[in-house]
Amino acid sequence: MILVFCELKDGKIRKASLEALSEARKLSGEAPVAALFVGASCAGSSDAAAFGADAIIKVEGPALGAYSSDLFAAVIADAVKAKGATALLGAATPLGKDVLPRVAAKLDAGYAAEVTSLALVGGKLQAIRPVYAGKAFATVDFTSGIQVASTRPNVFSATECPKAGAVETLPVPAVDFKAIVKEILAKGGGKQDLTEADVIVAGGRGLKEGANFKLLEDLADAIGGVVGASRAAVDAGWGIPHSMQVGQTGKVVSPTLYIACGISGAIQHVAGMSGSKVIVAINKDPEAPIFKLANYGIVGDLFEVLPELTKAAKALSLAK
Ligand SMILES: Cc1cc2nc3c(=O)[nH]c(=O)nc-3n(C[C@H](O)[C@H](O)[C@H](O)COP(=O)(O)OP(=O)(O)OC[C@H]3O[C@@H](n4cnc5c(N)ncnc54)[C@H](O)[C@@H]3O)c2cc1C
Repeated sequence: MILVFCELKDGKIRKASLEALSEARKLSGEAPVAALFVGASCAGSSDAAAFGADAIIKVEGPALGAYSSDLFAAVIADAVKAKGATALLGAATPLGKDVLPRVAAKLDAGYAAEVTSLALVGGKLQAIRPVYAGKAFATVDFTSGIQVASTRPNVFSATECPKAGAVETLPVPAVDFKAIVKEILAKGGGKQDLTEADVIVAGGRGLKEGANFKLLEDLADAIGGVVGASRAAVDAGWGIPHSMQVGQTGKVVSPTLYIACGISGAIQHVAGMSGSKVIVAINKDPEAPIFKLANYGIVGDLFEVLPELTKAAKALSLAK
């Protein structure tokens, strides 16, 4: 059985979790797939049935209201053992990246992080994952009995495949906490996380000052996107939070569309966005390295190009 650790946000299964679930369904053929939910309440988990879950396993309780590495890792490891799962998948979200390696350690299992492709070879998982900041890809074979992998968001597709979704609950294990989360301070004003965004409009030093990010927000609003930034923009003291930074020391994103505005295309920035499906670059320097990567390039002043793009995008959506 493949067990998929799924996350809920505001009563809905995260898109990245549905992608992991769909991939598990695709891999396992007729073999069973179970979706695992952990939290104070797992309301909304029943939607997993539509994306291929034969079983929906819930571990609920007030102790699971706030994320705790110790407790969540114990809950997930116990569920893997209780169900006799040979593979555990989950999305490489911030929570997934924290908890899944811990689960693998508890189970003495091999772990492949942020995989971009999965296959079953001789009954075992085989994963492909980026290495050296995305400059190369490694093929990972597992030698352990249990195999754990996190899937990079926006790489796999979430495809409907209705299954029974029989609901089961497991008890919350007693855990000796090493750390307790006291408070979570949410950032980003409820906007979609960059790692899950389908469209990103990112700005760099070429924006000249923080107030000019309004130009990016206007375009992002017009095309249903989220705003990101280069490290130069974040470090410039313009009030751009690190949570918006894309790159080697920021977030790794893989949207369908990435619009890089006033970003030169330094290797550390590219490490975070080269997995984007379509890249559009707006830069006044025709020699900027970002154009080597871009599918479409606009050589021009972003202060002229962005308002025109926004106007055109609004006109298109009004015309629909
Ligand atoms: C260890 C390490 C980790 C790093 N991690 C990251 C990371 O995670 N993410 C990241 O982004 N960087 C990272 N960097 C920094 C990286 O090396 C670059 O310095 C940074 O990406 C440059 O940001 P930028 O492209 O916005 O700025 P610049 O390189 O200064 O480029 C600005 C661009 O804007 C263009 N421009 C200027 N005015 C206009 C205009 N009016 N219209 C159109 N175009 C215009 C210019 O032609 C230029 O190409 C890291 C560096 C190190 C050493």
